[in-house]
Amino acid sequence: MSAAQRIQSVCECQALLEAELDEQGLVLHGWARRPGGAKERAPANSVGHGERFDVAWQCPLCGRNTLRSFHSAK
Ligand SMILES: [Zn+2]
Repeated sequence: MSAAQRIQSVCECQALLEAELDEQGLVLHGWARRPGGAKERAPANSVGHGERFDVAWQCPLCGRNTLRSFHSAK
């Protein structure tokens, strides 16, 4: 029933970055996790709408701002 979309990428520090987006493409939650580690909240923002959008995470594990491009499934 939920239209939320889950995306993920990998930070340069090897943390797994994940975010959940609503149907408008806005970030609902962002988090980061080291391999085998616990989830930590990571501030994340989406930029752009439509078929192509970017998501920027601030990785809580290394402090980098990590920007990744995604294509919507539509
Ligand atoms: Zn990182």
